[in-house]
Amino acid sequence: MEAELTVTANEVVKLSSNGHQTEVNQQNQDQDKKKKKKSSSKNLSTSSIWRIEDSEALYRIEGWGQPYFSINAAGHVTVSPKGDRGGSLDLFELLQSLKQRNLGLPMLIRFSDILEDRIKRLNACFDQAIARYNYSGIYRGVFPVKCNQQRHLIEDLVKFGQPNQFGLEAGSKPELMIALALLDTPGALLICNGYKDEEYIETAMLAQKLGQTPIIVLEQIEEVDLVIKVSQQLGIKPIVGVRAKLSTQGMGRWGTSSGDRAKFGLTIPEIIRAVDKFRDANLLDSLQLLHFHIGSQISAINVIKDAIQEASRIYAELALLGANMTYLDVGGGLGVDYDGSQTNFYASKNYNMQNYANDIVAELKDTCEENKLTVPTLISESGRAIASHQSVLIFDILSTSEVPSILPEPPQDGESQVITYLWETYQSINQNNYQEFYHDAAQFKEEAISRFNLGILSLRERAKAEQLYWACCQKVLNITRQQEYVPDELEDLEKIMASIYYINLSVFQSAPDCWAIDQLFPIMPIHRLDEEPTRRGILADLTCDSDGKIDRFIDLRGVKSVLELHPLKSGESYYLGMFLNGAYQEIMGNLHNLFGDTNTVHIQLTPKGYQIKHVVKGDTMNEVLGYVQYDTEDMVENIRQRCEQALEEKHISLAESQKLLQTYEKSLSKYTYLVS
Ligand SMILES: *Cc1c(COP(=O)(O)O)cnc(C)c1O
Repeated sequence: MEAELTVTANEVVKLSSNGHQTEVNQQNQDQDKKKKKKSSSKNLSTSSIWRIEDSEALYRIEGWGQPYFSINAAGHVTVSPKGDRGGSLDLFELLQSLKQRNLGLPMLIRFSDILEDRIKRLNACFDQAIARYNYSGIYRGVFPVKCNQQRHLIEDLVKFGQPNQFGLEAGSKPELMIALALLDTPGALLICNGYKDEEYIETAMLAQKLGQTPIIVLEQIEEVDLVIKVSQQLGIKPIVGVRAKLSTQGMGRWGTSSGDRAKFGLTIPEIIRAVDKFRDANLLDSLQLLHFHIGSQISAINVIKDAIQEASRIYAELALLGANMTYLDVGGGLGVDYDGSQTNFYASKNYNMQNYANDIVAELKDTCEENKLTVPTLISESGRAIASHQSVLIFDILSTSEVPSILPEPPQDGESQVITYLWETYQSINQNNYQEFYHDAAQFKEEAISRFNLGILSLRERAKAEQLYWACCQKVLNITRQQEYVPDELEDLEKIMASIYYINLSVFQSAPDCWAIDQLFPIMPIHRLDEEPTRRGILADLTCDSDGKIDRFIDLRGVKSVLELHPLKSGESYYLGMFLNGAYQEIMGNLHNLFGDTNTVHIQLTPKGYQIKHVVKGDTMNEVLGYVQYDTEDMVENIRQRCEQALEEKHISLAESQKLLQTYEKSLSKYTYLVS
């Protein structure tokens, strides 16, 4: 379901156009920001009033959000969808106006302008590198459809990519169908990857006749004969590429995408066999492209450099063997700085887009010069780097659960000795003894539980002992938070004492990588950022699955186990945003506990405000039940019959049965998430 709406709201502040800035300039800015950050964190400890800057530093929004996300004076997250080119809107106010349009949470908000900015940025970086190194070839990027196949996004991508002849990469037959139907930019490339059968190859080759530029990339040695056969049958000379298994290993989670035992690609001996076969079939001039992909989210630039060096050598050798080498396709892997640390940590990257483009262009130029070859057209298949920033997932908090924080009364006469011990421990904890007394408290609590199990401590006494124990933990925690160094054994205390924030979201549906591969996404409140977040919490989702939680958050160094959050205010909603999650999450999300797709809106800036371009309603219960083969009409009928029977047996009144039936039927056409 979908609707088009136009709004000219007053949410948009200043719209200026001061030209496009590539990431080169940004690097220097980033350095400055780093220095600034140091001074702001100093202020953090000296000033007692919480400021917006403190929230900026705490949630590291400059690190990962630049140039799209920041915080305004009202303490709300703002979005600048055009990056440095001006125009911004208040995310909290945008959410309010979307809620007034009867759109429930959780909600995925897509900013089409961010998508456009990412494409422009990537192209600008390559153009700049090409100019800088006097490279005589061009760059022709493609977007890997697998990264986010949603129609509105692919349509936008093709449209925004037109000025740069940006193309698409398909990794399967269904993705090929999408790419063939949607890509209509003259000169843009259509890279055909993935496993192929005769039908796939035929379709790709025939697309040439429609004016497309499909390039069939061989991923398996078996595909060589198939391509030759189909080419001869159709009398079409295809453009063919080979995917090489580089010996350069990627790193981290996707490190095994390369190397001799990788799932895809041809080994060097296989590439030689392919060359010989194409020569024998008189098709060697069809072999024009070399492709490699060493994995996604490459955090270290040296890995990319090594891969380019190896690939450019293979490229040159293929040209010397007589292949008509014209294109080098460096695959994906361009990373996203999820934690904003600019390091080679897996959730970050120690290079920027410009460094990436520079290294590719420079290496190719050198190798081709050495071998007196014309430089290739450069192709990259960046998915994550293009699609991550454009969507923000907004969700609300249903309730929280805290560790009991009421301080119990002092011990009473007749109460167990262990309570007195705990009370005394609690009273005496200070900066010098907290480590020792923390252990004492734990021991006394254990003691209390054994006494309870032996029948010599009452339930009320046990409650008091437990409360005293938590009070001790809280006191120790308050001390450790002031310390530079936290003893190892106390590191978990923050987690043990964390509040649980119940979120109106399914991690399995909306952020599956959090659960499946421990991916980190920046998460923060989108309002109240002028207020100190005094709670530390973990997030627990709606599913009845203990894995449905988020307890790993970005941090300056590594990962933190709790997130700083605000206490809930009664009668007021509290909203969190998960950022940079536009790549891979939507299609990988699953229907665990039958929580369906969330509502999605597409927002585009206009000179006067913004426009809601598309509303894609999330799944209803009818829809998710249909996925698992229920016929909801039958289900309603079943309930109706049972109501009639209960009526006849006088277990239910007519009014009650009508209410049940109506609620049941109405619910089925509604959102699978909670209404708060
Ligand atoms: C997944 C994939 C990509 C996209 O990788 P990113 O790291 O998201 O840019 C590109 N090419 C191939 C062959 C892929 O399998």
